[in-house]
Amino acid sequence: MKRTDFLNALGNASPICLSNHNKIITLNDIESLNGTHELHYIPNLGGTKADEITQLKTFFIDLDSGKDKNGDYFPLSKVSEYKEQKQKQLEAFPIYPSAVIETRNGLQVYWFIGEPISRDSWQRIENALIAYFNADIKVKSPANQMRLPDTFWVKDKNNPFYCKIISLHKRSYFKKDLDFLDIEKISSIKLNPEKFKKILTSKTFYNYQDLFDHITKEVDLFQYLRDFYDLEAQNINSFKCIAHNDNNPSASVFKSKDGIWLYSCRATSCDFKIGNIIQVVQHLSKLPRHLAIQKICSDLGLEFTEDAEQKRILEDNLKVIKDDIKYSHPKLYSVIYRYIPTLTVLHYLAMDNLVYANNEDEFLFTGSTRYLARMLGRHDKKRTGEDLSFLSLAKMLKKVDIESDTVPGRYRDMVMRLKRENERYINTYSIPAYTLEHLRKCEDFANVIIEKGIRKIEFCYATVANAFGSELADEIFPQAKNTVCKDLDMNLYNVVENLIAQKSYVTEKIIREYYKEHHLLWSKKTYIRQMPIIITKLGLIKIRTNKKLKEQYGIISSGYPIIFIKKETALAN
Ligand SMILES: [Zn+2]
Repeated sequence: MKRTDFLNALGNASPICLSNHNKIITLNDIESLNGTHELHYIPNLGGTKADEITQLKTFFIDLDSGKDKNGDYFPLSKVSEYKEQKQKQLEAFPIYPSAVIETRNGLQVYWFIGEPISRDSWQRIENALIAYFNADIKVKSPANQMRLPDTFWVKDKNNPFYCKIISLHKRSYFKKDLDFLDIEKISSIKLNPEKFKKILTSKTFYNYQDLFDHITKEVDLFQYLRDFYDLEAQNINSFKCIAHNDNNPSASVFKSKDGIWLYSCRATSCDFKIGNIIQVVQHLSKLPRHLAIQKICSDLGLEFTEDAEQKRILEDNLKVIKDDIKYSHPKLYSVIYRYIPTLTVLHYLAMDNLVYANNEDEFLFTGSTRYLARMLGRHDKKRTGEDLSFLSLAKMLKKVDIESDTVPGRYRDMVMRLKRENERYINTYSIPAYTLEHLRKCEDFANVIIEKGIRKIEFCYATVANAFGSELADEIFPQAKNTVCKDLDMNLYNVVENLIAQKSYVTEKIIREYYKEHHLLWSKKTYIRQMPIIITKLGLIKIRTNKKLKEQYGIISSGYPIIFIKKETALAN
């Protein structure tokens, strides 16, 4: 990767360049000065001062490992540890950088901008990125000089360091990408002077529950707030709250009966009442939960490896449903495409709320139908609930029985409490990885769904129970477990059976006409609800006719109607 590729991707092919921070030079001067001078450039367009900048091309942060207590640079081996740690943090960050440049003491990271953005928005997001990554707080002006890629760092003349482009993607971000991630709401977090020390004592967790236990129980919340949130108090039992403008000490930190450190504020005017470290950080830094956890980990040098992997599985899933299955698994697609928005939102919810199941193969998350409906911009939760049940029939997600052994006890308690307190329509889910193997199963099953004529309209416990048995129905409608299935509508059953015996096939129209002729009361609702059951009981399947089938059954109507025929006959064809 070359410097020119980088500058082209940035959208500023001939930027203002400077040597030793003060002398303006041209791009042509670079080669002759490289190796003897410090070479920088200004990524944004317009001038060398903040108020001269006219076009904001990128966000940038300078991740700098800093210096030791004697003011010396850390040895390269230590710096590589820092770089590695930061790269992992970047990989796990939902907005992937457009480019990363390696410098002697760290990384310079860019997120290119794809559309005009206001100065205010730029600064808010820039500050948020700095705060989030604990980046150098001084590097935040729109006219900031950054190191020119492909040049040598020469502050130590005897040990120059080649600053190279380690990743470059021609990827620009739009305001909607950033809005979506709520990043503008991330308020400024103070730079932590202890950062490097903390990073060098890093610890890796492989199980989410262990990490959760560690940060909520082992981490001294009072000390953490002193280190990272400018809490200056000495008395843990009574200090001035940092969540509101507190004149009298109203806050305290204490340990709960189950050993969790909690922050509490007594002031009635305070938005924050009580919560653990994650909730405190969520509140103070206005971060979504997963980013709050990530920030705590980054502050304390903790790592959680599987989480990133699971998030990637979810991200891959999103790509699969968005781009792949339309062509590769058309039946599955035809069954679920209307519910893809719901499935997508569910994935985003999952990314924020993963918890490992005891079997460690699955990860769980909990969501309320009302919340999902709101995310989808719907006023009515009923439709969303139906989408989720149907998607679960299509095996794109699984409703997890909260009573089952795979659910960690503490998690179950949490969900049960939520249910009691405010969310009746809350479910715990797991989402499988949409591997080819899984999709093949889904495709086969989608075929069965189509054959049995199951549609989301009037989709309920009885539909599934009658078509597939009560075990599957219990899975898909856990609230309706042990529901007594509605009796079969014998009228309709007999009509369909007779017509099949007479004509070897039926259509909705034929059935409706039969009802009319015999003065029976036709109900579309009953028809939709009962047909899947009747199909199963009579061993029929639902298919769309083609020319050959029309000839075979003597169908003379125009078009290619959907008909029901005996499954054996269909297979024999
Ligand atoms: Zn308070």
